Amino acid sequence: MKIPVCSPKIGEKEVEYVSKCIRSGWISSMGECVTEFEEKFARYCGCKYGVTTSSGTTALHLALAALGIKEGNEVIIPTFTMIATANAVTYTRARPVLVDADPSTWNIDTSKIEGKITKRTKAMMPVHTYGHPVDMDMILELAEKHGLYVVEDAAEAHGAEYKGKKTGGLGDVGCFSFYANKIITTGEGGMVTTNNEEIAERAQWLRAHAFGRHGKHFYHEELGFGYRMSALQAAFGLAQFESIDEFVSIRRNNAKLYNTLLEELGDKIILPPEKPWAKNVYWMYSILIEDRYGLGRDELMKKLDADGIETRTFFYPIHVQPIYASQYNKEKFPIADKLSRKGMNLPSGNNLTAEEVSYVCERICKYAK
Ligand SMILES: *Cc1c(COP(=O)(O)O)cnc(C)c1O
Repeated sequence: MKIPVCSPKIGEKEVEYVSKCIRSGWISSMGECVTEFEEKFARYCGCKYGVTTSSGTTALHLALAALGIKEGNEVIIPTFTMIATANAVTYTRARPVLVDADPSTWNIDTSKIEGKITKRTKAMMPVHTYGHPVDMDMILELAEKHGLYVVEDAAEAHGAEYKGKKTGGLGDVGCFSFYANKIITTGEGGMVTTNNEEIAERAQWLRAHAFGRHGKHFYHEELGFGYRMSALQAAFGLAQFESIDEFVSIRRNNAKLYNTLLEELGDKIILPPEKPWAKNVYWMYSILIEDRYGLGRDELMKKLDADGIETRTFFYPIHVQPIYASQYNKEKFPIADKLSRKGMNLPSGNNLTAEEVSYVCERICKYAK
């Protein structure tokens, strides 16, 4: 028995809603659960429109495609992120332009963005990493000044808030993942959220093959996708959505307990950020292991593994990924490199109990030199 790093919390409601969907016979994306899930989740994010997708990755790709991002364009993203952020840009044949991380939030360093804007830049894609929102004011200012779109990668930040406003509704488009380890899940799935009717309509149209609109159904004027979510997934999502506030509280309470119990380690480890203007939802409760801790990050992970505690390393930044590295070898991203070397995610799921948090902290304190 291991304490999992992030497991979904599934109850009878999920069974009930999915069963009801099956009995209705409407199991494709035509089922009414899909629209209901889209409306409810979009409203939660402060958005008028939600467009469900088959995953977070396809939500990102669909959002960029709906905005008309294409070959020859550039999209600014953080290098310290999960691979899907960069891949979504690559799928459009645009180029991901990388920016280093801010050491105080681990998100994109907003002060380093403007130097990367060129004539080809069309959009910025900030990522609310591990559930901590990006400092959006600077991003929105740059967007206004340079005429750029803002696409939030909110795949890790359902319910997180920037200055009291939910992520996903802060830019032109928000993108969420409902993968099994995310804050709410549909197994696999995603959603594009927006207040812009035109973007929402284009996303809906491109999501399902861009069928002909003028009486010629099987006639295609643009390259569409098969990115729909099924009603079975949406039914599951509706059940999860009813618990979203509870899930966010569980994560925040566990984070608070981690913070308290790890405090005695002082500066041997760095605790996760939460700026005064931020509500972090701690998709992952993440720490940095400093040299002063006396044991390397990887050694600590091994010891915890033997104790039945599952952990994860931080992401490898995009600029070191074998599929991207050669494009960026003239640039330096020291903060992302440091995060990647020192960072680890502790158990953070919706099922995690206070006893388990205490056990994890007791072990981490014990191994400190
Ligand atoms: C999980 C995640 C995605 C991709 O979501 P999938 O549903 O797995 O495709 C994209 N971006 C970030 C930052 C993520 O954490």
